[in-house]
Amino acid sequence: MSDLLSKFDALAAERAGVLTAGVRDPFAIVMEQVKSPTEAVIDGRDTILLGTYNYMGMTFDPDVIAAGQEALAKFGAGTTGSRVLNGTYQGHKACEEALKDFYGMDHAIVFSTGYLANLGIVSTLAGKGDYIILDADSHASIYDGCYLGNADIVRFKHNSAEDLEKRLRRLPPEAGKLVILEGVYSMLGDIAPLKELVAIAKAHGAMVLVDEAHGMGFFGENGRGVYEAAGVADDVDFVIGTFSKSVGTVGGFCVSNHPKFEILRLVCRPYVFTASLPPAVVACAATSIRKLMHAHDKRARLWDMSRKLHGGLIAQGFRLATATPESAIVSVLMPDQETTVRMWQALLELGVYVNMSRPPATPAGVFLLRCSLCAAHSAEQLEAVLQHFERAAAETGLFRQAAE
Ligand code: PMP
Repeated sequence: MSDLLSKFDALAAERAGVLTAGVRDPFAIVMEQVKSPTEAVIDGRDTILLGTYNYMGMTFDPDVIAAGQEALAKFGAGTTGSRVLNGTYQGHKACEEALKDFYGMDHAIVFSTGYLANLGIVSTLAGKGDYIILDADSHASIYDGCYLGNADIVRFKHNSAEDLEKRLRRLPPEAGKLVILEGVYSMLGDIAPLKELVAIAKAHGAMVLVDEAHGMGFFGENGRGVYEAAGVADDVDFVIGTFSKSVGTVGGFCVSNHPKFEILRLVCRPYVFTASLPPAVVACAATSIRKLMHAHDKRARLWDMSRKLHGGLIAQGFRLATATPESAIVSVLMPDQETTVRMWQALLELGVYVNMSRPPATPAGVFLLRCSLCAAHSAEQLEAVLQHFERAAAETGLFRQAAE
């Protein structure tokens, strides 16, 4: 019998090598207690959370929790069924209504996760003979949607209007085309030049899908995303999003003004062939989405935090992935895997949790310490974070090494 797991031996050896050097496994963190959107207990220690996607701090919002508790008591723990059979409750419809109001769009479909929303919408929209043209740095769920479907896949250079145009020019003019973009790219925290990219897509007769997972809640006048801030709402055909970031729970969705959109409910396999979200989750999501429509103060605060963290880290000498703060993600560039892990662990021991990111999740083979901000971070927490970064860099000799 050949051992099917042997193909992972090299990865297991690399991981064992890192762990025997005396560091914690960055991918096996356990939150023993969660005290607020910005604080948890890890290894028995109070820790500032600077590596979650809880951008708007909605996880502990009292109205959100109350809505979830009420739905749990009234409708039970789960639906035990697909959205197209017994799994659509009034809460799922109310959640879709909240999304339509939030986005000012005619249609909304809620999926069980954002991953499934991309998997389903991407694979179903573009079929045999159609083309998907996607940014090379697209999220795994977009790539997986491409693999699940039958369209031809064309990648263009990350955020390059010139390359997108070149690729589109080569395609048959009459073929169906879907250009897929993201508002914010979550590894480097950079945003897409949507005005240019969407104009090029439209000039070549393509439909446009924008994943606003990391832009919902705080970009644009109504918090709809980078596409709203860029003023291209009329030219975007589909917006994909998630409840697992600014909304503060779990779930995914696609919204659109396309008059034929609703048919997708019958043909989209990741919608049909999985259980729907529990009633408590959709109740939390609907309440959170409606509150996010009026979250101007939180939005302003989040941007203020992002500017302060970005500016503070630059002043200390860190190399960041973007020259200016472009989103709520501030990514610190690291020289190699070993330094990244040591720096990550030093921060954790000082009481700051950040995300460690490495290839293949990151583009161009870069190692990152990814910081993501929350509107609920206090000025004191931010101050502590900056002090701990400085100390961790001194303990690990980061700048000494960089200067060599
Ligand atoms: N799209 C993007 C750009 C994401 O970053 C993510 C999750 N990190 C998803 C989709 C999937 O969202 P979910 O967590 O709801 O599956």
